[in-house]
Amino acid sequence: MKLWRFNGGLPSLAEHKNESVHLPIETAPVPAQLIYPLLQHIGNPAVPLVKVGDKVLRGQKIADAQGLISSPIHAGSSGTVSNIGEHLIPHPSGFSAPSITITTDGEDQQLEHTPCADFRQLSAIELVAIIREAGLVGLGGAAFPTAIKLDQQHKTKPIETLILNGAECEPYISCDDRLLKERAISVIKGVEVLLHMLACKQAILAIEDNAPDTFSSVQAAIDANGNPQIKVVKIPTIYPTGSEKQLIKTLTGKEVASGEIPADIGVVSINVGTVYAVQQAVIEGKPLTSRIVTITGEGVNTPHNLEVRVGSRINTLIEVCNGYTNKAERLIMGGPMMGFALLNDEIPVVKATNCILVASKNEAVTDKQAMPCIRCGACASACPVSLLPQQLYWHSRADQAEKAAKLNLLDCIECGCCDVVCPSHIPLVQHFRHAKSALKADKHQKHLADIARERFEAREQRLALEKAERAEKSRKKKAALKARAAKKEIEAAASRAKEKQQATSNDES
Ligand code: SF4
Ligand code: SF4
Repeated sequence: MKLWRFNGGLPSLAEHKNESVHLPIETAPVPAQLIYPLLQHIGNPAVPLVKVGDKVLRGQKIADAQGLISSPIHAGSSGTVSNIGEHLIPHPSGFSAPSITITTDGEDQQLEHTPCADFRQLSAIELVAIIREAGLVGLGGAAFPTAIKLDQQHKTKPIETLILNGAECEPYISCDDRLLKERAISVIKGVEVLLHMLACKQAILAIEDNAPDTFSSVQAAIDANGNPQIKVVKIPTIYPTGSEKQLIKTLTGKEVASGEIPADIGVVSINVGTVYAVQQAVIEGKPLTSRIVTITGEGVNTPHNLEVRVGSRINTLIEVCNGYTNKAERLIMGGPMMGFALLNDEIPVVKATNCILVASKNEAVTDKQAMPCIRCGACASACPVSLLPQQLYWHSRADQAEKAAKLNLLDCIECGCCDVVCPSHIPLVQHFRHAKSALKADKHQKHLADIARERFEAREQRLALEKAERAEKSRKKKAALKARAAKKEIEAAASRAKEKQQATSNDES
């Protein structure tokens, strides 16, 4: 199959997969508490369906989607709702947010689920509804509600190619690799469900060429399945080939333009972990309550690939990994390139958590002093989105986020390639994140200002209307008084005339 090369990227980034890629998936024990932030995805937070004291079972919906871009949340084990309130969430901001806490009862009782005998008897609309109801979001890290990606009802262009993203390009992470090695048959069944839903011609599962064993497992599963529409392809190991637009370019040669989505060019791209969750939801009838997480780094004694209940605190997983080493310096959710630091290990695993990197000083902290930019252009050559990081940096540093936005700052995928190649060790991504937050805050402020202006204008209109109504009322009242006075005057004149006439006729007689 012909492959294309995206711009920039890092062909020789240290992978650090050997620390965990050989470790089979193990199941983490059910912890004493499960904590569910109500916002685990892009869009609106979910709305609680339970109250403190309620008993719940595994698989029971405890919070419902709110609006289209949202996703429900299901209990990961049986127990009692012990709190609904603020809890630290895994987010670069370090904020707390509303969360549901379940104290588990150790029995792990689950709601009965209904497997689907033949998904081909269901329409695409019915399958989208099942996937939405099962709480599926992108498990590759983006956490976009999956049902929206798959809902073709309002899309004008038919989907020609389904891409299954098994290119786990971020260093250290191996959860998708283990999933494909151990559960390839289930993943390929999930691909069949998606092919049926999207009615597209072909599905391409992409795996980097540094994982030949994984490729063989997937090829064997495809051969056993026998569907000629599904194929597996080896792609070159170049960071960040697993990012959506870069993978689409590699496999189809097509570019997803700024402001467009893959569906606009007839492509849907889904992470293989999400495909497995589709198989579980549609064929097994199970909502999303667990996921595979890689726990690795020099700061943990025994790295693992663990299947964990979403909502488990990170410290409970560190215990399974025999605790921290004396090298543990920093907790990172995700990998070292695109992940973010966590405040502490009380934070729960959410649906998007693919890796906990317990990083040593060598792995996470750069003690190199940032120097002035020497305008070498290395950052622009490495940028896979063809941005101009050097210019973005000038504007971001000068608090000119609007100018950076005009240079497509919002297209930056925060891959960190520019950081890695910068000879001046400038923390470019840090500046870009800051500028993006400023844009978001500006947008929010503008939104609030728009609301305030609309309210002010509505009030002014209301007051003007009330004033006009009062004036009209007063005018009508005056007119009525005038008319009444005029009528009285006419009646008085008539009465006087009558009296006069009466007097005249009396005199004559
Ligand atoms: S972090 Fe942004 S600017 Fe830097 S290389 Fe990646 S996409 Fe380009
Ligand atoms: S790589 Fe660093 S020094 Fe070179 S142009 Fe970019 S920001 Fe400047």
